[in-house]
Amino acid sequence: MRPAYCVVGGGISGLVAAYRLRMAAGPDADITLLDPADRLGGVLRTERVGGQPLDVGAEAFVVRRPEMPALLAELGLSRRQIATTGVRPLIYSGGRLHPMPPGTLQGIPAEASSLLGLVDDATVARILDERTRPLHWRRGADPTVAELVGDRFGAQVVTRSVDPLLAGVYAGSAATIGLRSAVPPLAAALDRGAPSLTDAVRAALPPPAGDSVFGALDGGYRVLLDELHRRSAAHWVQVGAERVDRAPRGWEVLDDEGTRWRADAVVLAVPAPRLPKLIEHIAPRTAAAARRIRVASAAVVALALPGGTPLPQQSGVLVAADPHDDRRSLLNAKAVTLSSRKWGRRGNVELVRLSFGRYGDTLARDTGDEDLLTWAARDLSTLFGVTVDPVDSHVQRWIDAMPQYGPGHADLVAELRAGLPPKVAVAGGYLDGIGVPACVASATRAADTLLKLGVAR
Ligand SMILES: Cc1cc2nc3c(=O)[nH]c(=O)nc-3n(C[C@H](O)[C@H](O)[C@H](O)COP(=O)(O)OP(=O)(O)OC[C@H]3O[C@@H](n4cnc5c(N)ncnc54)[C@H](O)[C@@H]3O)c2cc1C
Repeated sequence: MRPAYCVVGGGISGLVAAYRLRMAAGPDADITLLDPADRLGGVLRTERVGGQPLDVGAEAFVVRRPEMPALLAELGLSRRQIATTGVRPLIYSGGRLHPMPPGTLQGIPAEASSLLGLVDDATVARILDERTRPLHWRRGADPTVAELVGDRFGAQVVTRSVDPLLAGVYAGSAATIGLRSAVPPLAAALDRGAPSLTDAVRAALPPPAGDSVFGALDGGYRVLLDELHRRSAAHWVQVGAERVDRAPRGWEVLDDEGTRWRADAVVLAVPAPRLPKLIEHIAPRTAAAARRIRVASAAVVALALPGGTPLPQQSGVLVAADPHDDRRSLLNAKAVTLSSRKWGRRGNVELVRLSFGRYGDTLARDTGDEDLLTWAARDLSTLFGVTVDPVDSHVQRWIDAMPQYGPGHADLVAELRAGLPPKVAVAGGYLDGIGVPACVASATRAADTLLKLGVAR
């Protein structure tokens, strides 16, 4: 009999898992991909805005990690990989724009001088003094980023330098994200016995990158998604999965139209909040662990402004939400990407993305499109004095899409995986890292786990 696999969820994690299974199991394997969305890709979604392809979910990937360049090479898509133009982002704090501090790890400085102008003199003195104060670090500890950085460098470093970056990556805050997930090399340097936070940051800082830190795809992520789907030759069924049941030989996935899909093995590549319903009767420990992963929502407003709109030569702005700063209320966005500046201009438009929503707020869920567009226009005016009407726009919501990597996340994920029955594997951005490269890695691991067990019945 031909081996049969079900992949539940057709985001990047599910598509990579389906592709890996096809490469290993060969053309005879049945691979069924269940996803109810109007198109595959999940949080990777390319829309045409102002006539140009623009990613309205994830827009980039870290190129220091090997997974994406390797996957693109494998698929013959390396020539589609593009780099940033070299322009830098800004930070908006205290009602002013500041250069992004150089030489930091997720905003945590190695030198006080890199934060001059962004934090006050007392904070600069505190950073300078940090190496003289004894550091009590317990090997393997996983405090929140705010606990460690606030204690050593002061609250302003957290709110003005670290938080804007973490809001960009997780829609989260230093007060809720664990150090080990946010900055693994820093935790490793502390475990190795760095005598101060300053020393640990210096030890963990990667050498300055000559090339762009971020890559993207010419034509958007759609190019990659289409190729993965084509090569996986997976049969996409546009339905949601309801539950996974044991079957006499392997598993059955019940979909929301009542059809049962038989499989020797199953990859579950749905977001964490969707996982418990599918497996709580066969994997209660896994379901309980998945329920403990908190999520945030975000909304992205993509605008095409007329060509020649006087935007600065910067890649964008990250916004500090300092609770003690009244002027923060001037802005609603948490980040602005000047896409045409960051990746190079295409067509006669200036493409801009504004992101709204942080962990714990309901902006992305509750704010109507018209209000989001009004906020976007107001924020561009506040930041850059730009008041032109867009020639095109698109509003995209990502509800519960951004997992929060709290303290102890790695242990939680180990518990989640340990509760899985044989031949059921998980993949997704809530496991080993939120970024697209980490999703590729988790999907590869899921497929490998199933393939190692074989499909003998
Ligand atoms: C706004 C935003 C910006 C981001 N920016 C970046 C970035 O620039 N760089 C980066 O590296 N990462 C970025 N990320 C993170 C990254 O995009 C995600 O972690 C990654 O795309 C998640 O992929 P996934 O396949 O694990 O999950 P998803 O993309 O969420 O896919 C899950 C799929 O499961 C489907 N599904 C749900 N329930 C069911 C069900 N019951 N049955 C069947 N299917 C189901 C959904 O329809 C969906 O297609 C960003 C995330 C967001 C939200």
